[in-house]
Amino acid sequence: MNIYVIIILGDELMTSVLLVEDENAILMGLKYCLEQENFLCFTASNGNKALQIMKEENIDLVLLDLNLPDMNGFQVMEQIRNFCEVPIIFLTANLEEVSIVKGLDMGADDYITKPFKTRELISRMNAVLRRNKKNLGNIIKIGNVVVDLNSAKVLKNGHDVMLTALEYKILLTLVMNPNMVFTREKILADIWDVNEAYVNDNTLTVYIKRIREKIEDDVNHPSIILTVRGVGYKAGDVL
Ligand code: CA
Repeated sequence: MNIYVIIILGDELMTSVLLVEDENAILMGLKYCLEQENFLCFTASNGNKALQIMKEENIDLVLLDLNLPDMNGFQVMEQIRNFCEVPIIFLTANLEEVSIVKGLDMGADDYITKPFKTRELISRMNAVLRRNKKNLGNIIKIGNVVVDLNSAKVLKNGHDVMLTALEYKILLTLVMNPNMVFTREKILADIWDVNEAYVNDNTLTVYIKRIREKIEDDVNHPSIILTVRGVGYKAGDVL
């Protein structure tokens, strides 16, 4: 039986949307409308800014204009796809662009033609988000760290983190049981089958330190793997 828990922190209770559009009036109008609907909005007026935000924030959905000043929407999507599977809806200006979107089948989740009605956009967004929810069960998020159980990958700010099998197993043990404090003995028992190498109490400390160096923003003030003094460790706080 696999029960996966999604850990949601603070703002992540809201659906976060990245709006990429170089026409400021459209951008601000979209932002206003979506905020009325309780979406958490990030905005970018060019492709590079969009990519930067994608790497820094946990974005649930991207609305992506095709014609941007520094690169086109397809190039932005291609680069996003290098590090994340976020759903993307293209904002197209005319029928010619629609046919390009349809023809290319580049992995966009939907498209909508400008000018569009806000209600139509929101219903499309919700449909795309619903379709993508089925995948959520295999993703665990803590802060800016994502553990993808399907691919056994760990991402920090959208970038691959290279963990050894043993480090991954230790991290998984903790994040799959949020709020549970693990004694060092329990962790050692859990990871026993992963590695032939003998892991004792002292080496566990070393492994935890190595994992923290790879995933924490500040190893001296960890937020993903917390130390419970005198007991053991637990995954980061759920707000
Ligand atoms: Ca444009």
